[in-house]
Amino acid sequence: MRAIEYHGNKNLKFVTDRPIPEIIHPHDVKLKVLYCGICGSDLHEYLDGPIFFKGETNPITHKKKLGQCLGHELCGEIVEVGCDVGHHLKVGQHVALESNGTCLNRQYLQQSKEEQTHICGACARGKYNNCKEINFYGLGFSDGGMAEYIVVTEARVIPYNPKVIPDDIAALIEPLAVAWHGVRQSRIQEEEKSPQALIIGGGPIGLCTIFALKGHGVHDIVLSEPALGRRELAESFGVRTFNPLDYKEADEQIKQLVKMTKHGGFTHIYDCAGTKATFNAMVKALAAGGVGTNVAIWPHVPVDLYPMDLTLNELTITASMCYTKIDFELVVKAFEDGMIDPKEVGKLVSKKVPLEDGIEKGILDLIHNKEKYIKIFVHP
Ligand SMILES: [Zn+2]
Ligand SMILES: [Zn+2]
Repeated sequence: MRAIEYHGNKNLKFVTDRPIPEIIHPHDVKLKVLYCGICGSDLHEYLDGPIFFKGETNPITHKKKLGQCLGHELCGEIVEVGCDVGHHLKVGQHVALESNGTCLNRQYLQQSKEEQTHICGACARGKYNNCKEINFYGLGFSDGGMAEYIVVTEARVIPYNPKVIPDDIAALIEPLAVAWHGVRQSRIQEEEKSPQALIIGGGPIGLCTIFALKGHGVHDIVLSEPALGRRELAESFGVRTFNPLDYKEADEQIKQLVKMTKHGGFTHIYDCAGTKATFNAMVKALAAGGVGTNVAIWPHVPVDLYPMDLTLNELTITASMCYTKIDFELVVKAFEDGMIDPKEVGKLVSKKVPLEDGIEKGILDLIHNKEKYIKIFVHP
């Protein structure tokens, strides 16, 4: 079959003779890939990696890391199911993939008893998105979705109705689940008074956070983002926007942001940028009792945090890592309930390219023209 393989730093290969993967475990499901999104972490692996692909084999699947198919934001159609797969999953169904691979997957891999019971503390507490050995389909755990077919474990697929969520946007369910988890971490539903949310950074996850907030019934949203095109896109979703570059000093930026709120600050802020300046803005622009959530993946840098800024305003600073299955299920339900409009979300897909052009017109184009695109899909 055709596929894009990761072979190390700046080393991707488009191949046409990769064997079609077979169902091996009784709980396996085989998917014909419909669309696969290119993610910032794919670019990161290409430019600065191996990061997730580090090490020779994955400690859970024992699969060789280099040479795996890239891609973890995918949707597909079930074409075959293993003999022990639950009856709720059937051939012909369209599904999204919860692409994280954790200790909990060991139970499906028919490994030795000793290995099956080896579960890290996070997984033992049910917090498998914090698994000490977390990897992803398409990022070291096992093969990903930039291929014609993929075999995954049944516990990781979430069916959707293509009449409600068209296939050519369904690969966005994964980044939407990342954003949904961030909003869930901020406990926004427990907020009594009308919430006012600020999203810092209008990249794919920042923009997806708009829809995760709408899915939670929150519509008073401000997006802070320097790029005009991204602000205009957000405005077309009914969101107010703020350009931090309009003000030179950080203090002035924060003052102006706070002016956009009713009660001296935002009740919920999501840092989707991950810099010292955005973290500081998050702490300073929160209303009393507000919740700041870090959704961004940071480089290894510390921040200045003065605990009295938290104490005097009883702020909560929390963080969000990846997602769990419920986030996918709630994203799908939000579409079904009409809380997320597929036509609006579809605007996040900047272009779709065939698999054979995925490296040149997808990954490399995204690296060289970051400002021009939000999300690029490849389709086999
Ligand atoms: Zn991703
Ligand atoms: Zn674990």
